[in-house]
Amino acid sequence: MKTKKNEMDLIFWNYPENERIGRTAAAVFAAILNPTMEEISDFKTAVSEAITNAIIHAYPGKEGKIFMHLEREGREVTVHIRDEGVGIADIQKSMEPMYTTLEEEERSGMGFTFMEAFSDEMRVESEPGRGTSVYLMKKMGGR
Ligand code: ATP
Ligand code: MG
Repeated sequence: MKTKKNEMDLIFWNYPENERIGRTAAAVFAAILNPTMEEISDFKTAVSEAITNAIIHAYPGKEGKIFMHLEREGREVTVHIRDEGVGIADIQKSMEPMYTTLEEEERSGMGFTFMEAFSDEMRVESEPGRGTSVYLMKKMGGR
């Protein structure tokens, strides 16, 4: 059972309440690997930051959809969180700790830093006007 690959897709609106639904769904998806409390908590933190970014930054002032694709193969869980929003002009700069374009809203600019710290792999792809994709991979349950 644990060696067979599994996949799941979830599509939701950019409403604040959906952050919790997306994060919890990702955690439940990973639960079959029997992760430690620390592993699941780190995973949820990383997923939460990616979803929150899509909710807060991708579609300023309007509604938009967020696409979450989950994959598990062996001990590796991959999450792909994608939006079709405004995109990011300078990905490298946006990934610097403390860099935020929403300073006036008291964002700390630490989202990408946390995603990187709490996952085993992180990749960001983005095109202004077309949207953003964040890939996160975490290995879990290796006891
Ligand atoms: P924090 O995550 O600490 O609340 P933040 O969201 O501003 O603050 P990061 O998550 O590190 O910080 O993101 C850095 C910047 O990258 C954001 O301020 C925003 O300009 C841009 N960004 C991140 N994700 C997206 C996205 N999905 N669509 C458009 N812009 C994004
Ligand atoms: Mg953020």
